[in-house]
Amino acid sequence: MFNTKVVQPSRLDPETRFKFRCHPGVPCFTKCCSNIDIMLTPYDVLRLKNRLGLTSDKFIEDYTFMRTDDKSNHLYAYLKMGTDEEKRCPFLESAEAGCSVYSDRPVSCRYYPIGQGLVKVEGEDKKTTHEEFYFFVREEHCKGYNEPDEWTVDEWRDDQDSKHYDEMNLEWKELLMRRDHPGQPKLGENKQMQFFMASYDMDRFRHFVFGSGLLDKFEIDEDEIKAMQEDEVALMQFGFRYLKFLLGLEETLKLKEST
Ligand code: SF4
Ligand code: SF4
Repeated sequence: MFNTKVVQPSRLDPETRFKFRCHPGVPCFTKCCSNIDIMLTPYDVLRLKNRLGLTSDKFIEDYTFMRTDDKSNHLYAYLKMGTDEEKRCPFLESAEAGCSVYSDRPVSCRYYPIGQGLVKVEGEDKKTTHEEFYFFVREEHCKGYNEPDEWTVDEWRDDQDSKHYDEMNLEWKELLMRRDHPGQPKLGENKQMQFFMASYDMDRFRHFVFGSGLLDKFEIDEDEIKAMQEDEVALMQFGFRYLKFLLGLEETLKLKEST
């Protein structure tokens, strides 16, 4: 959600300390909420569409645009900025009132002014997994660094509820890391659409899970089926497992013997 020129090169660890506070009294309040690139995670979309009382496809249509990753052919959803001169975020209520969806704002808004990256690491079991790292984003217009409040990166993540979002998106991010590997094929059109549906379009994915015969094909525990019927987060998490299976990354689902 920022220009890469403003990324500070040093890598931070969870205990790195910094001074920062963002509140309506800072002279730059809401200056960071226009003309920005915000890639949405699956959990961002779930929270925002529920906040607005929209179906997932309506949210996607009204508030997002797509970008295709050249290497993998994954389709990612980005928040659509306004068409006004400043290209304001659609959720910016006013320069004084700030964010109208604050408690459901995307994870990259929560992290700011910290940026987050992922690197591949090999676990003890020789499986490739990922490790998160952090860096500062210092934009000239941002005056929050002049405030006296001091945090560690870890305390900041707690305060902004970023950790909860990271937990929700963990399996999806892990999937992306494993796909970002030489030898992983680019997705064809069908898998590309399924990737998008299971990542972002939860209402359509629900129809797919419960209305396409998928449950007849795979061995899925009754408790998990019940959880998916009652809880969208459980459905989203099943979607990540489904994608790992579909993209040939892991045998996360087992076909029934009769199929
Ligand atoms: S979602 Fe809220 S915090 Fe994030 S850019 Fe938009 S107005 Fe700002
Ligand atoms: S520019 Fe920095 S201090 Fe100002 S509103 Fe945005 S995050 Fe807060």
